[in-house]
Amino acid sequence: MDPIRIAVVGMGKIARDQHLPAIAGNGAFSLAATVSPHDPGMAGIPHHRGLEALLEEGPAVDAVALCTPPQVRYDLAAMALKRGIHVFLEKPPGATLAEVAALSARADKVGATLFAGWHSRFAAGVAPARAWLAERTVERVSVVWREDVRVWHPGQAWIWEPGGLGVFDPGINALSIITHILPRPFFLKSATLVLPENRAAPIAADLEFRDTAGAPISMDLDWRQTGPQSWDIIVETDAGTLKLSNGGAVLSIPSGTEHSEDHEYSGLYGRFATLIRGGRSDVDTDPLRLVADAFLRGRREITEPFHD
Ligand code: NAP
Repeated sequence: MDPIRIAVVGMGKIARDQHLPAIAGNGAFSLAATVSPHDPGMAGIPHHRGLEALLEEGPAVDAVALCTPPQVRYDLAAMALKRGIHVFLEKPPGATLAEVAALSARADKVGATLFAGWHSRFAAGVAPARAWLAERTVERVSVVWREDVRVWHPGQAWIWEPGGLGVFDPGINALSIITHILPRPFFLKSATLVLPENRAAPIAADLEFRDTAGAPISMDLDWRQTGPQSWDIIVETDAGTLKLSNGGAVLSIPSGTEHSEDHEYSGLYGRFATLIRGGRSDVDTDPLRLVADAFLRGRREITEPFHD
């Protein structure tokens, strides 16, 4: 089978740190081109400043990985799907739920694959956590996602703009995990969003959810963390406590702790190849829906200005 010729669009941090190595390590794909307005591209790989130029001038591609900020992703995805090109959407899949639904319908119509990639679901501890929880009764869940925005998002102006999600940009990773591992659906009961007075997106948020059996799920998101960082999910059950730490990489259950190698992006590209070969799409918007609910229902608190 010929490799899937893929272009990486948006040559920023995640494209360089994760997408390019994952593509290079997966024989189902060959990197055909890169696209980015200001990046110089890579030696020996055709490069364009915009997707339109790539689609008009070539080389031909079968798929694109959209690694741009979410605010510009709809137009790029629609442009690719119009030509029957398969699309991998980085998380979050869009700036609004309705635009992702429109892309999904478009992909189905043209017979192309649309993949909303949730990388944290491919963290090593997530699949075994889901399997363990499937046989237990969840009593209480606590999510603590506290990181230093200056370390992890330096100079990313888009992340503070509407559609950039602020602290929900990392927080949606936690939601992508718990929507996947918890056996029952859950929904928002209350939220407080803390916004710096000079920014459009929250720097912190406290959320309270309930699952359909009444179990409480709390979520503490904060970008002002210095010192040790936390990306932890603790699930108390009738059979003891499960803890996923390091963003899902380390799983502790009563019988012991498992550490594994990071394989999030190799997992994502394996899945994308399988979807393309099988003529299918995978567009789960549940994590984005919960974030949208937090913006709908959350109380706003204004705090001191934030400067990079
Ligand atoms: P970033 O470093 O700011 O990179 C985004 C890139 O998108 C920029 O380099 C910019 O290119 C490019 N871009 C903007 N508009 C474009 C357009 N119209 N066409 C083509 N390229 C365009 O951001 P990032 O951290 O990589 O994040 C990108 C996405 O990945 C976000 O949705 C984020 O949530 C997700 N993500 C990030 C991480 C992470 O650790 N950083 C992890 C997982 C997922 P120029 O520089 O050439 O202008």
